[in-house]
Amino acid sequence: MNNYKVWFVTGAQLLYGGDAVIAVDAHSTEMVAGLNASGKLPVEVVYKGTANSSKEVEAVMKAANNDETCIGIITWMHTFSPAKMWIHGLQQLKKPLLHLHTQYNREIPWDTMDMDFMNLNQSAHGDREFGHICTRMRIRRKVVVGHWQDEETQRKIAVWMRVCAGWADAQDMLILRFGDQMNNVAVTDGDKVEAEQRLGYHVDYCPVSELMTYHAQVKDEEVDALVATYFQSYDHDAELEDPSTEAYRKVWNSAKAELALRAILKAKGAKGFTTNFDDLGQTDGSFFDQIPGLASQRLMAEGYGFGAEGDWKSAALYRTVWVMSQGTGCSFLEDYTLNFDGANSSILQAHMLEVCPLIAAARPRLEVHFLGIGIRKSQTARLVFTSKTGTGCTATVIDLGNRFRLIVNDVECIEPKPLPKLPVASALWIPMPNFEVGAGAWILAGGTHHSCFSYGLSAEYWEDYAEIAGIEMVHINRHTTISEFKKELRMNEVYYMLNKALC
Ligand code: MN
Repeated sequence: MNNYKVWFVTGAQLLYGGDAVIAVDAHSTEMVAGLNASGKLPVEVVYKGTANSSKEVEAVMKAANNDETCIGIITWMHTFSPAKMWIHGLQQLKKPLLHLHTQYNREIPWDTMDMDFMNLNQSAHGDREFGHICTRMRIRRKVVVGHWQDEETQRKIAVWMRVCAGWADAQDMLILRFGDQMNNVAVTDGDKVEAEQRLGYHVDYCPVSELMTYHAQVKDEEVDALVATYFQSYDHDAELEDPSTEAYRKVWNSAKAELALRAILKAKGAKGFTTNFDDLGQTDGSFFDQIPGLASQRLMAEGYGFGAEGDWKSAALYRTVWVMSQGTGCSFLEDYTLNFDGANSSILQAHMLEVCPLIAAARPRLEVHFLGIGIRKSQTARLVFTSKTGTGCTATVIDLGNRFRLIVNDVECIEPKPLPKLPVASALWIPMPNFEVGAGAWILAGGTHHSCFSYGLSAEYWEDYAEIAGIEMVHINRHTTISEFKKELRMNEVYYMLNKALC
């Protein structure tokens, strides 16, 4: 977040004379300083001055496009700012837009108010003029209404800023695919060309043989040091520390796999990766002796995007979730097993191995167990834990053939019963509004069995994300009913068919 800036541009005009613009400029400077001093915004706001003409608007929009540190632009019309002068600039703007409808003074100064004051402080109508041209030009933006010093106003700006950061991060995101999609799986696949056009990230195949050249170069001392870190960080049986045991060797080999993966991701500048458990390298060369699940868990915690079984859309989305949520806990998860229990019916979320420890309720436990799936059935290291309880939100992006659909479901993580025989990490949740409607709506929407879960991101984040990306979003929440949801899906189908620019 420290590398990014959000620009603040104040709309005005010269109708009221130069003195008015000087006053507007002073107010804007004070407001931006106040926003930065609030401590509520994750990204610094940079005041870019007043825009008083079409030329000035166009110049600042072009500059925003070309400044790599600028991840979005906030506009506010202090005085009336005739919107025709915004047309050329808005036509050029490529960065996310937030229109802040606010006012310098909180209240009307009843006793001293005169025409000069009213002409100077007329965002009430200036912002409507600006809103009109945005709507007429079909400009996607977030509109935040509220006094700039109010916490709720600042909170909404902060949400949008985090989304802008995730969006900016995705625009130069590379996802490496080690192996292809798993056999015949439809929902995790999609149009990678369209994904790059619409969502920004690039997905590249990387031969596992190339990963293995990095694996072969990992030094034993590096592996020893990483294994020592594991033993410090995670609970474990004493046996694991005994170098004569197979369990120790499996942990050691897992650490080597992690170092190889991190090395190739760094070398290629990749922000995420996918794996395929049928492609772990050839045994006559350098190879993974087990699925690199522990490595995936730890790399996810570091912020690398991850999708199992070739799921590149989830890998990219997880990375964005990690950037936006900034430490509040997130993971790639999979709907695994159902628990029918009346009003508390729930879904066990897990994966064969790859669940991110950022959602763990307590210190994870490092364990080694046999895993009988994949090309190399083997004793396999992994972190075992259960998730924190509490509310969260899970999200997925699917490819419907003519467009991407973002599906978001509010969920409640509940306390599971002990699972003494299940050697993987898990979360147990009730999808809102309840299991029957939540799961039913998700299935009707065409949602994946994989999703990207977080505690800290509410649907407001996803709404801002979908607005910036220009993709469909459906939100399954405590108000959802199946019949209304089906109507929404049908109406969206028509909307996106007619609105070809978004397909
Ligand atoms: Mn899976």
